[in-house]
Amino acid sequence: MFEQNLKYLEAEIILAEPRGFCAGVDRAISIVERILEIHGHPIYVKHEIVHNEHVVKNLQNKGVVFVNNICDIPKGRIVIFSAHGVSQSVKNEAYKRKLKVFDATCPLVTKVHREVIRLNKIGREIIMIGHRNHPEVEGTLGQVDKGIIHFVETFKDVNSLKVNNPENLSFVTQTTLSINDSELIIKLLRKKFPNILGPKKDSDICYATQNRQEAVQVLSKSCDLILVIGSKNSSNSNRLCEVAKNEGIQSYLINDESEINSSWLLNSKRIGITAGASAPEILVKNVIVQLKKLGAISVRTIPGLKETVHFPLIKELAI
Ligand code: SF4
Repeated sequence: MFEQNLKYLEAEIILAEPRGFCAGVDRAISIVERILEIHGHPIYVKHEIVHNEHVVKNLQNKGVVFVNNICDIPKGRIVIFSAHGVSQSVKNEAYKRKLKVFDATCPLVTKVHREVIRLNKIGREIIMIGHRNHPEVEGTLGQVDKGIIHFVETFKDVNSLKVNNPENLSFVTQTTLSINDSELIIKLLRKKFPNILGPKKDSDICYATQNRQEAVQVLSKSCDLILVIGSKNSSNSNRLCEVAKNEGIQSYLINDESEINSSWLLNSKRIGITAGASAPEILVKNVIVQLKKLGAISVRTIPGLKETVHFPLIKELAI
């Protein structure tokens, strides 16, 4: 009966642009697939290659083994570092274990790693803004010896932060933060430490994170519900959901069409869809098919920025 009522939903589906895969995710998955082609399975990946359940399951089915610890990989085998990057100690452990290493760290994360190493070399005291325990944060903090970088996530962290020399401070950020939240944290840092130096663009938030958040802000103006396709552990997907909610729109993060709850759709006439940077476009297509089954009648895209960023594969795999 409930399903029958929903047949008369007559909602419009509105897609955000850009959405879905970024250049770093595309490159990381291509690296794994290319190594599988060349070397066959099993190959090992430290951490999920990107934070998406479907991508991970698909690669597992092809013989990729995902591990959280390097010591779980048999000596001499192939390991790929995920797009989030790893600490220097993980790299050292892999070399000690004589693993053949391929690095799928997103070049934009590597850029932050290099900056942390440079700042440390010239004797600057460093603060990192990010989400506690996120693998990218662990990798970036781990570019220098333990305890060298201060870590902040909240206003409370900034307020209680004690540094050695406020005149010699620099900060870096995680690449997938909320633009609005990070601006507030940076503002507070600058208030507390007026001479702190930051990245050129005032944060290390990447182009893909920024573009997808801005597209959701635009989408919010035309929708009464926004479905964000992405996995629960995907930082940038969670941020997209928050952006929609901050714009006053009910929003849900779903892995795929099976997680659509019909009750969300009852009063929705304009359903927005976006996808996190690690969510494949096929999931968007499947969600559209499901919404049409439930009575949605049309699909349109709000034209947005066309992304042209492309990262070449690592040298060893160049065709
Ligand atoms: S979200 Fe940004 S930093 Fe992360 S993989 Fe994509 S481009 Fe790289």
